Amino acid sequence: MKDTEHQRQAVPEPTERASAKRLKQQLESLLEAGVLDLPRSKKKQSASVRRPQPASKTGASGKVSGQTLEVLQEEVATCRRCESLACSRTQTVFGVGPTNARLCLLGEAPGADEDACGIPFVGRAGQLLTKIIEACTLSRDEIYILNVLKCRPPENRPPLPEEVANCRSYFEQQLEIISPEFICCLGTTASQALLQTTETIGLLRGRWFSHGSAQVLCTYHPSYLLRNPSAKRHVWDDMKLLLARMGIPLAAGNPP
Ligand code: SF4
Repeated sequence: MKDTEHQRQAVPEPTERASAKRLKQQLESLLEAGVLDLPRSKKKQSASVRRPQPASKTGASGKVSGQTLEVLQEEVATCRRCESLACSRTQTVFGVGPTNARLCLLGEAPGADEDACGIPFVGRAGQLLTKIIEACTLSRDEIYILNVLKCRPPENRPPLPEEVANCRSYFEQQLEIISPEFICCLGTTASQALLQTTETIGLLRGRWFSHGSAQVLCTYHPSYLLRNPSAKRHVWDDMKLLLARMGIPLAAGNPP
């Protein structure tokens, strides 16, 4: 067909194509998060815990963020760096949430329930975490949740230092790809692994640290709260710090 002026004008400009691609990525991200209906109003949402989806964000492999996480997830699924964990796991537990989340929650390792279904924080501790998130007026769908270890340690023992070292590149790459504004470490293992410190969680919690461009806050792991309910008030204090810095209105009432 002859290339007329009219036909050339009908082809979208590169910027238009980029906008269309960006919109498609945003819609896919919303669908992934379970959002099936979009508000008609152009008013800004009150509790914004998502960044705008970057149009040209690339990871180490040069692919866009979503695709890169998928590639990394496939790599993790076949990882056998910790041979004993690889032999005993049902499956790896990679992480879940939107790739443009402002907030990442970093836990320790999968337990039996997580090992069975492949999703982090779904057991009793996970249910408590969900209550904490909801008390913060947030939803799990708005947050990226991951663990330091992707494989379940037998009998839910704490991860060994060599296992954390083996798995470090995976959680570091996840955080690099997602590039959250805030990371909340849940418990000793996650806090010490991310911040590369030996300080106890009792000393780390309630203080701000940085990891790359992210601001980091540490608090107790929900499993610890199940054994020590009196520590919930400390977690609530930490959540109030986090919400205030994120610019999210504080929830009224008590911690779950
Ligand atoms: S814990 Fe991490 S490094 Fe170890 S086998 Fe599992 S995925 Fe690989």
